[in-house]
Amino acid sequence: TTHQKIALVTGANKGLGRAAAEQLAALGMTVLVGARDPRRGEEAAAALRAAGGEAHALTLDVTDATTVQRAARWIEERFGHLDVLINNAGITGSGQVSPADATDQIPSTVEPDMVRAVFETNVFGVIAVTNALLPLLRRSPAPRIVNVSSHAASMALTSDPDGPFAALLPSAAYTPSKAALNALTVQYANELRKDGILVNAAAPGYVDTDSNNHTGHLTPAQGAAILVHLATLDANGPTAGFFTHDGPVPW
Ligand code: NDP
Repeated sequence: TTHQKIALVTGANKGLGRAAAEQLAALGMTVLVGARDPRRGEEAAAALRAAGGEAHALTLDVTDATTVQRAARWIEERFGHLDVLINNAGITGSGQVSPADATDQIPSTVEPDMVRAVFETNVFGVIAVTNALLPLLRRSPAPRIVNVSSHAASMALTSDPDGPFAALLPSAAYTPSKAALNALTVQYANELRKDGILVNAAAPGYVDTDSNNHTGHLTPAQGAAILVHLATLDANGPTAGFFTHDGPVPW
């Protein structure tokens, strides 16, 4: 029998995560649609099935240890393994205002609790989900972990006073959370290299989603392509890298 690939995408009920789920399903993978709201998750999974894909909704709030443990148990009982984990769920901290325009993230006046909430989802949530699922990923012949980061996480780009990021409002919440996610990506990759688990960070570009009130210029499908590429790397693929659709992003 052939090995049926199982992929979990967190925050897959809309936006980039949903587009990545669609593409993975189109490749023939069984897609687990992670969603904190069961109704929204089921709606997205049903749409994937209607399009001919194999999909199941999975209730998963990355900040809620109970749902994380329950999700891991469900995958174990139902499939016994996991091949792909895309840590996509994320928040800007400023609702649907792009971090580039969010006055409530300006470093000198930011509320520490707001920073904490963003890290809770974008950083600590990734650790919780990854660690709960690693035992199942270790049972895959070719495990892949993709952390959805951002160009805003690039210290090289954001510290350039002449670069495109100099014109944006400074962000003490979202941007540092994605920089921390990048750092974590490298640390996980280094730990898991010997086990053949490839771990990379993806910068999708500026994508038309709710998170920036639909000001992005790329479609979710275009932005999700790099997530799917990194989720389907062959054994010679990179690990501990940071990539956008046309190549590496400087750290
Ligand atoms: P959306 O707001 O459209 O989607 C975010 C998804 O994450 C939703 O499904 C949301 O669920 C989910 N989510 C939020 N918090 C949690 C949580 N605690 N547990 C589980 N799921 C959660 O945004 P995008 O699609 O734009 O964002 C996806 C990822 O891409 C994020 O990590 C974002 O930072 C990153 N990104 C986006 C860019 C862009 O231009 N759009 C650029 C760079 C990076 P719900 O529907 O319930 O709110």
